[in-house]
Amino acid sequence: MNRYDVIVVGAGPSGSASAKLLAAGGVRVLMLDAEAFPRRKPCGESLNPGAVAALGRITGHSHAREAFDFPSSPIQGWKVSSGRALLEAVYPEGQYGAGCRREQVDLWLAEQASRAGAVFEQRTKVERLIWEGERAAGVIARSPEGKPMSIRASLVIGSDGLRSVVARNAKVNRYGSLRKAAFTARLNGVRGLNGRVELFTAGDGKVIGLAPIGAGLANMTVVLGSAKAASLAVKDLSGVVLGEARAVPELTERLRDAEIEDGVLTCGPFDRPVIPHDIAGMLLLGDAAGYYDPLTGQGIYRALRSAELAAPAIVRMLQTRSHEPLRQYRMDQQAEFAAGTRLQHIIERLSRQPILWRSALRIVGTSSLLTNKLAGIIGDCPKETNTCIPVMKSP
Ligand SMILES: Cc1cc2nc3c(=O)[nH]c(=O)nc-3n(C[C@H](O)[C@H](O)[C@H](O)COP(=O)(O)OP(=O)(O)OC[C@H]3O[C@@H](n4cnc5c(N)ncnc54)[C@H](O)[C@@H]3O)c2cc1C
Repeated sequence: MNRYDVIVVGAGPSGSASAKLLAAGGVRVLMLDAEAFPRRKPCGESLNPGAVAALGRITGHSHAREAFDFPSSPIQGWKVSSGRALLEAVYPEGQYGAGCRREQVDLWLAEQASRAGAVFEQRTKVERLIWEGERAAGVIARSPEGKPMSIRASLVIGSDGLRSVVARNAKVNRYGSLRKAAFTARLNGVRGLNGRVELFTAGDGKVIGLAPIGAGLANMTVVLGSAKAASLAVKDLSGVVLGEARAVPELTERLRDAEIEDGVLTCGPFDRPVIPHDIAGMLLLGDAAGYYDPLTGQGIYRALRSAELAAPAIVRMLQTRSHEPLRQYRMDQQAEFAAGTRLQHIIERLSRQPILWRSALRIVGTSSLLTNKLAGIIGDCPKETNTCIPVMKSP
């Protein structure tokens, strides 16, 4: 008999959330991550209201931000500007997002998974899946000491992010056509932070995101086309990235005294679609299941929400030994995210056409109905979503 029912590869939001929910329901879970926690991750570090609410449901706190044991900043909405065009939206009454260091929120969630009973092994890199015919039956991983380990389970969850080894090994990953790269940094000394995620779009593909993350710091993420990003000097990356941001007129004064702490993280490209698949013994969650673009800041919500939707289906799969519940999960997940994904594609395309983009910002900005609607969709603002923590019973 396998020692574990489920192996979760990756302890980001999708991995830790699924490990927490499954372990709380009596499933024997092993979660593996290649890194030592806390570890940094390139990210705008703003959780939208949907993500904050999902974290609350998953961890059993009615206000997740109040349960954080690390600094964070409430986020009440967002502001997009492009030249003189401006669109500002506030989340609905009582709903807020949170800005915080990614490594801290990821560690916090991984600890909740451990407390619920999941075994969490760090510095353990998964190298490939074990196959039994067409079925994934476990993983080959390398221990912190470099020893290869073969671990079997009824299900392997690939929560291992954009460059998922699980997706690659199952040959379902693809490279999308969008070529962008991002530089993320934490800044002190930013003037005029106002409890909003602020996006400055230059119209040439350059986007600068700014968000307060608590303790007087701001996250700054500079997104550029891959070709331009590759041409940047690597010697003084901090100076170059600050220079790119200060070149935006609205930011010149605000960043005059700003300094980068802890260096700059780079990543990209992000467009990683996954082809539809139905592989027994394997499930992809979060970015590993397909990612497009960070512009609308919905990735963490989707990672958490996909874990919430998958957990009951996984328990049913383990109880019935039937693959059908996971098929149903994939359909439910697609149905829930499809409209948001279409909107993400429209927004990304528009943002690269300066005249259309500025017109769109002005048109939406003149209607409070449209602005509120957009804020609700992009914030993944919760309606009435309940999470049923599934309970594993003997089959
Ligand atoms: C530039 C940028 C800015 C972003 N900004 C935001 C934002 O502000 N708000 C937001 O909501 N979303 C944002 N996102 C998206 C968000 O970061 C992701 O959607 C989210 O982290 C997905 O979570 P995940 O659990 O699927 O994967 P990840 O958070 O990527 O976690 C994957 C984990 O798997 C581990 N791993 C990888 N390979 C292996 C292996 N072989 N073996 C073992 N472990 C492995 C990694 O160490 C990592 O801990 C941004 C993305 C980018 C690229």
